[in-house]
Amino acid sequence: MAASADVQQAEREESSRKRERQQQDESSDQEAEFELDDEPMQTDRAASAASAQQITPEKARAAEAARAKEAAEVAKANETVFSPELLRTYYARLFPHELLTSWMAYDPTGAGGTGSSSTSLFARREWSFTIEPSPGDEIYIRYQSFVQPSDLTAAIAKRNPHKIDIGAVFTHPPKDHNTLQSSGKFATEQRELVFDIDLTDYDGVRCCGCSGAKICQRCWKMMSMAVKVMERGLREDFGFQHVAWFYSGRRGVHAWVCDESARTLSNEARSAVAAYFEVSMGTDQNKGMNLSHPLHPMLGRAYDVLEPMFVDDILPSTGHSLLAKREQWEGLLGSLPPAAEPVAAALAK
Ligand SMILES: [Zn+2]
Repeated sequence: MAASADVQQAEREESSRKRERQQQDESSDQEAEFELDDEPMQTDRAASAASAQQITPEKARAAEAARAKEAAEVAKANETVFSPELLRTYYARLFPHELLTSWMAYDPTGAGGTGSSSTSLFARREWSFTIEPSPGDEIYIRYQSFVQPSDLTAAIAKRNPHKIDIGAVFTHPPKDHNTLQSSGKFATEQRELVFDIDLTDYDGVRCCGCSGAKICQRCWKMMSMAVKVMERGLREDFGFQHVAWFYSGRRGVHAWVCDESARTLSNEARSAVAAYFEVSMGTDQNKGMNLSHPLHPMLGRAYDVLEPMFVDDILPSTGHSLLAKREQWEGLLGSLPPAAEPVAAALAK
């Protein structure tokens, strides 16, 4: 729920829209990156077009200068400029205060926590703000809590935080933690079950040319696959009903499981839920991956969910080229178990 994340997302969406328009103009373009790193390709294409029309060197240089100027302007327009004033406007006009506070109230009466007392879940929730009073001077403020939703809204307006972190619900209002901590009465009571899915964990299988923080539409599809598998598992295998997905603001997604049964899980139980979804992929080229047959029902369902997306988005050259490039299909054949080696050898020819 980081505000800066929302701003970044809006910018990313805008950049994505621009990119989509650009793609419509470039029917042969298969590079769908958000970044402006395909400029050299455009320049190459323009240069070959120029030579085909026998343009004089002077005209080509002038055209090149015009293109460079245009590219610089586009780069400047896409540069992230942080504006505290815009952030203030965002909090005043766009930030979903009511949605956030009514969620955090967990109020079955539907009053949205408006009748909160200091013992309500809302009042015992920890909020942390990251503020930046002057550029580069970042301050992280923990243990804030608010009796009424309107108190939170007022604090956000006053502090203009660059980032807001939602903490746990404690036994007492976190703002009183100093006086309570020595008595041993101040403890965590509940918190949502949160999963963080990050594209950087997929670097080994991202074959679109991206790694680390670099993300394109092709690798973002992997986040969509992860969401579909996790969503089904959380709902069907664990019976959770209140699962909310958020763009993490950088390179992945967060799942917030908000059912009361999830909020009150012990740390051991949280680890067990996470471990349930883990598939040991073994070591180099999946040599250590041993899946038993028949597949565990969770894996069988994941297979059904993923297979059509695998065919559409992983295999072809418009996806991750698993069957479209020699080095990739050789890698895939190399991952087959020893019993399939004659088949792999025949296919590799
Ligand atoms: Zn990518």
